[in-house]
Amino acid sequence: MSNPWLRELWRMVALFGGALFVGWLLGVPHGMFTLALAGYLGWHLYNLHRLERWYRRRKKTEPPTASGIWGEVFEHIYQWQRSDRQRKKKLATILSRFKESTAAMPDATIILTEDDYIEWFNKAAKRYLGLQSKQDIGQRIDNLIRHSRFSEFLARGDFSEPLEMVSPLDEQRYFAFRVVPYGKQHKLLVVRDISRIKRLERMRSDFVANVSHELRTPLTVVSGYLENMAADDSEQSNQWSKCLHQMQGQTQRMTRLVEDLLMLSRLENEDKTAVRDPVAVSALLTSLVDDARVLSGENQHRISLESDDNLWLRGSEKELTSAFSNLLFNAVQYTPDNGHIIVRWYRDGDNACFEVQDDGIGIAIQHVHRLTERFYRVDAGRSREHGGTGLGLAIVKHVLDRHEAWLGIESQPGKGSVFRCTFAPKMLMQRDASTENR
Ligand code: ADP
Repeated sequence: MSNPWLRELWRMVALFGGALFVGWLLGVPHGMFTLALAGYLGWHLYNLHRLERWYRRRKKTEPPTASGIWGEVFEHIYQWQRSDRQRKKKLATILSRFKESTAAMPDATIILTEDDYIEWFNKAAKRYLGLQSKQDIGQRIDNLIRHSRFSEFLARGDFSEPLEMVSPLDEQRYFAFRVVPYGKQHKLLVVRDISRIKRLERMRSDFVANVSHELRTPLTVVSGYLENMAADDSEQSNQWSKCLHQMQGQTQRMTRLVEDLLMLSRLENEDKTAVRDPVAVSALLTSLVDDARVLSGENQHRISLESDDNLWLRGSEKELTSAFSNLLFNAVQYTPDNGHIIVRWYRDGDNACFEVQDDGIGIAIQHVHRLTERFYRVDAGRSREHGGTGLGLAIVKHVLDRHEAWLGIESQPGKGSVFRCTFAPKMLMQRDASTENR
């Protein structure tokens, strides 16, 4: 009989039937039945008590044994206890293997709780960040890595990109901090030493800066001689005038290229954040628009300026001038004669926007996301024709990165383009332009 309840039923029938029969023989059927009932109830109570006592002592011991339905209950508990033990053992093995492998990893690995308290870290974390097992477990990570950029990174909660930062212990080393949230309440903080990559990047950009710097002097000499020769009115010189003119054009292009390369490497090598001086954007734009009109010359572009005079920026005037002029002069270069160009500087909610709109040649969508790459041009011939270096928008992007701003481009071929720089609220200042005398 496989069903335990059926077996139990038969036991009951046998017990109570037997009791009634003996009671009938003795002439006390009710008394015997009550006695059997009390015995049966006592047996249940006794087993219930054993179960409760086992549960209180908990799990270390195996559950008691019994006959009947209680035997079945204890057997189930025993099976469940065994599989639970095996599962725990397996989990513990997995966990210790995970800890062993992360402990052996060359990257610092730290397990953080949801609120950024340290739960565990490997040996590399001790080396990289100077963490100490006894004191630091249970501490908040940003109390131990004290750096405003790190705290901001943690608080922002956007971990799609790693944070690259100088080591908190050694200024010569660079680390990339990556946070990977896992489970519901944990984060894995992985810290990689990227000093070598940074060194290589630095070497590359130093090389470009040095070459550009070395080219400056010979270029100045050559263009000086060319200028003198062009000014010379002799017959011999007139013979060469077309040639001289071309040579002057090319030396000017090279000079611009060298200046742009130097500007880019300066932006790359300097501190991540630019200076934070007050910049009167409106006044700056007025002078840039004048320059753009001169550049437009006979092409007769109609250039207008709509600007909020009281809205100022915190930043480097030199860098912002470079970024804004690149966008404005591009609009002049890539807009046919008599085209319209509108320059705007305005508040947009909490942010502020600098915008250049033109009704020029526009850009096909597939090029738009690559425009800020160095030397990326939609039409290289056209860019060179007007002396473009292909570095203008790369400079714009770098300057904006250093000013907590970002570039948006909307464009349609044949209809025109809008280049928009959006600045975060913390970069803005409200000043009454009429009372400022700068
Ligand atoms: P360049 O020196 O060639 O102008 P930039 O980096 O300033 O280099 O610009 C990259 C490319 O973006 C340009 O070659 C041009 O094809 C395109 N471009 C930039 N501004 C505009 C614009 N206002 N209208 C159309 N195309 C533009």
